[in-house]
This record gives sequence, C-alpha cells and structure tokens, in this order.
Amino acid sequence: MKIQKILFVSHCILNTASKVVMYNDEEMAQEEALRRRFVHAALDAGVQLIQLPCPEFTLYGTKRWGHTSNQFDNPFFRSHCRKLLEYPLMEIEVYMADPARFKVLGFVGIDGSPSCGVDYTCVGPWGGNLGGREDLGSLAADVRLVKKAGVFFDELEKLLKERGAVLNRTGLLASEPEKVMKLLV
Ligand code: SF4
Repeated sequence: MKIQKILFVSHCILNTASKVVMYNDEEMAQEEALRRRFVHAALDAGVQLIQLPCPEFTLYGTKRWGHTSNQFDNPFFRSHCRKLLEYPLMEIEVYMADPARFKVLGFVGIDGSPSCGVDYTCVGPWGGNLGGREDLGSLAADVRLVKKAGVFFDELEKLLKERGAVLNRTGLLASEPEKVMKLLV
C-alpha cells in the first residue's frame, strides 16, 4: 500500500481571505507567487494538505489591524491558540499511529506573521489608541523581523513537545523560497 504524505499548513495557505488586508503590493505578489508554487507542487506530489485554523481571524475577523507578536504574547491569546490546536493535534495523533499508511511531513507556517511565523516573526512596540498620535509613521516603521516563532506556532511547538512528537516545520517566506519546497520531499 502506498504511504500517504500529510502536511499541516497555516490556514491562509489555502484561504487568503483570512489574511489581514495588506497594502504593499510587491510584497504580497511575491508571497502569492510562492504560495501558488508551493500548493501546486504539493498537489502534484500527492501530498495531502491539512488546514490549521487561523488564530487571528477567529478572534478579530476580517477588519483587524496588523499586529506584532508582542501584542499577542499574553496568556489569553496563548490559551485561544491552544484551544484551536486541540483538534489538529488529535488528527496528528491518529495519522502518526498508523505509519504503514501515513507519513506526517510536518508543518508550514507564514514567516513574519505574529502568530504563524515559524523561523521569523515580527516584533515592535505597537499598541494603544491611534487617535491623536503624532508618531504614527515612526511607530509603524518600528517593526522588525526576529528569528523566532510567532505565538501560535510557539504554542504548537510546546504542545508537540508535551506529546513527544518531533516534526519538521518551516515558514513560507518569499526571500527564502526553497526551505518550504524542501518539506514536500
Ligand atoms: S494568523 Fe496565520 S493563518 Fe491567520 S492570516 Fe495570519 S498567517 Fe495566516
């Protein structure tokens, strides 16, 4: 019997309608090109894609602002992430219990996301009411990528560790396209 390969992916890899509205067209076009390349390659390789829930959409809907990971790094958001991950973790358990039929290849997130970053997330001192501020330009610019996971994937990592599961994971990042493609092999 042929082993089926399974990959868990961030929600917006299959549904970009869940994403924060972005205004940097060039950046978005590069990410979209890689997303399409990756999804097409996964389908061609017969890899089954399982969609994780979107932790931000399920709290704030479609009109949310962009955030930094500092804003989500609190027990309430972490608890929300843990609850969302309960079902996917049970799915993983079931597939991993039958290695003769299934191989779980790992996880793909979205690098730079405050939630779904895997190798990189964004940090910055954002927060507070926007009205009356005169430093909005510098505040918006005061955000940078750092080499660590976003809050959702950080919680995922902890939950996997608690279960003794070791699985590959990486993030979709237009400037490093090959790392996500490697997961399909
Ligand atoms: S929170 Fe994750 S799944 Fe949701 S839009 Fe952002 S990167 Fe995509």
